[in-house]
Amino acid sequence: MDFGDSPNEAAFRLRLREWLRDNNPGLPASSTSDEYWRGQAAWHHTLYDAGFFGLSWPKEIGGHAMPSVYDAIVDDELAAAGAPPRPSLGYLVQGILEHGSPEIYQRFLPGIVSGRDRWCQGFSEPGAGSDLASLRTRAERDGDDFVIHGHKVWTSYSDDAEWCLLLARTDTEVPKHKGLSAFAVPMRQPGIQQKPLRMINGITKEFGEVLFDGARVPASNMIGAPGEGWRLAMTVVSHEREPGELGYVARYRKIVKELTARVAAEPAAFDNEQRRDLAWAIVEAEMLRLHVCRRLSDRLDGIKHGPEGSVDKLLMTQVEQAVGHAALGIDDEVGLPVYLYSRAQSVMGGTSQIQRNLVAQRILGLPA
Ligand SMILES: Cc1cc2nc3c(=O)[nH]c(=O)nc-3n(C[C@H](O)[C@H](O)[C@H](O)COP(=O)(O)OP(=O)(O)OC[C@H]3O[C@@H](n4cnc5c(N)ncnc54)[C@H](O)[C@@H]3O)c2cc1C
Repeated sequence: MDFGDSPNEAAFRLRLREWLRDNNPGLPASSTSDEYWRGQAAWHHTLYDAGFFGLSWPKEIGGHAMPSVYDAIVDDELAAAGAPPRPSLGYLVQGILEHGSPEIYQRFLPGIVSGRDRWCQGFSEPGAGSDLASLRTRAERDGDDFVIHGHKVWTSYSDDAEWCLLLARTDTEVPKHKGLSAFAVPMRQPGIQQKPLRMINGITKEFGEVLFDGARVPASNMIGAPGEGWRLAMTVVSHEREPGELGYVARYRKIVKELTARVAAEPAAFDNEQRRDLAWAIVEAEMLRLHVCRRLSDRLDGIKHGPEGSVDKLLMTQVEQAVGHAALGIDDEVGLPVYLYSRAQSVMGGTSQIQRNLVAQRILGLPA
């Protein structure tokens, strides 16, 4: 593997680096304060308009059809400039691209990619998280529409979203995995109530629960065939477990860069343990960067991703929690929100226990 830039990649890197000198909005890392969320939409538009977002996605949905190594270059340069990470919504794009008809993805994906339309992901429910297939939200056919009743929870970005990628039960007569369908549901309608949830680190903008009481969605907004919802959900969560898809390497490296600057400015204020924890976080973030390069290199060789995404997710969790631990040790005011959010990484997108089950059964071939 050669991680050096080709001439085209080097030219792209330089152009981005120069652009960032004038266009870094100076926001904190994502999910650490409401300030990030106030500026996130504008940051998405700025990156997209300048041609630095959605690089590896098809042109017909607003991407640039470039090799995914360019996404890694974007992450490198954002981290080096201390800029916020790129918006992490690749998992929605991949799910709709893989399972939606051309009519569906041409209708919905350009708005997601450009940031014109905000989306949330309505999978989890109070009684269905790890055991997602047991979800109880129902979508029943009524003329040209489906009518939805149910309760979703832990729905990230639901307060801002115009659309929800909803997983609902459309058939109760078949085994539970087979009775689910996916829909693009317009969020701004009378049958939907969104209730924000305040996170332990103080963020009020990221999270919510969503109540559906007679909400309507046109049947033409179904994504994939009836009963294909489970397969779509598995595509979405497998991409949600990949740091390369999410751009999270930039997020971790931005935080360790800020912590390093803090320690370098006042070395005598920090003891050996604090420095050792920071050094470990730097090593972990670099390890993840190289791991992502290796996975992107696999993709260039045509290797499709599969259950290895669970290994990525476990690594990503380990890195985020090492960074959170170092941040808390060095600056408890700035570090506390980073530390508290890092605890959620072992839950969101499938818990660490579930990832270990998947590694055991699907990679190592151990019995259930
Ligand atoms: C920050 C954050 C953002 C999120 N964003 C979204 C979102 O946008 N959309 C969405 O739909 N959901 C979202 N979620 C929800 C997330 O997917 C669920 O929290 C997760 O799947 C776990 O489900 P649960 O919370 O119901 O826990 P449970 O499934 O009830 O698990 C409780 C505990 O039991 C363990 N456990 C459960 N089953 C097993 C098993 N078979 N073997 C071993 N251990 C097991 C779990 O590991 C966990 O420790 C988000 C969660 C967080 C924390």
